[in-house]
Amino acid sequence: MVKRQLESRGIHDPNVLNAMRMVPRHFFVSEALMDQAYGDYPLPIGEQQTISQPHIVAEMTQALELSKDDRVLEIGTGSGYQAAILSQIVFRVYTIERIHSLFLKTRKLFDDLKYHNIVTRYSDGTTGWKEESPFDAIIVTAGGPEIPEVLVSQLVEGGRLVIPVGDQNVQELVKVTKDRRGEVHITNMGGCRFVKLVGEYGWKD
Ligand code: SAH
Repeated sequence: MVKRQLESRGIHDPNVLNAMRMVPRHFFVSEALMDQAYGDYPLPIGEQQTISQPHIVAEMTQALELSKDDRVLEIGTGSGYQAAILSQIVFRVYTIERIHSLFLKTRKLFDDLKYHNIVTRYSDGTTGWKEESPFDAIIVTAGGPEIPEVLVSQLVEGGRLVIPVGDQNVQELVKVTKDRRGEVHITNMGGCRFVKLVGEYGWKD
């Protein structure tokens, strides 16, 4: 997976490649799908949600420009795979899920697999996590209609946010950087397709 899908397609951050080698992706899908866990496509995880394909996980993680002391917020825990990848690279991961059954299942999985630097929360992540802010990086793994301002406000100066923005069928992957003076820069990383970001600053249910 790492050689064929990642290294040959623009993933070069050694920390990201190492994390993708370390985390056993088959534990993050149902037993029936385990033999497909290392293919280059998204898979269903129940509740009409999906685990993203390995390449997009790696691409978004690389775009966050992480280092080992960072504290990172993820919106959309889902299967927990993206959070597990982040947990191999940074000091602490905070992850929010709005579907209760996924929240419970994933919290147990993190315990079982001993990912002790992941903190989970059941709520609407579009408003961020004020008590734990500011974050060095924020990753949103569901597609919203716009960049929630409140998430940008929860970034440190020098912080990075990656989020898919667009309509409900297709989005652009957008990277927001807050520079040392607090000014915001936006770059477009290209087209993508995610499930809906549902919440106060996302789509309405
Ligand atoms: N990062 C996940 C991707 C899961 S799909 C993984 O690695 O598997 C996106 C997830 O975002 C879904 O589980 C969905 O329920 C969740 N989600 C959508 N809107 C949300 C919101 N406002 N707050 C928190 N989670 C949300």
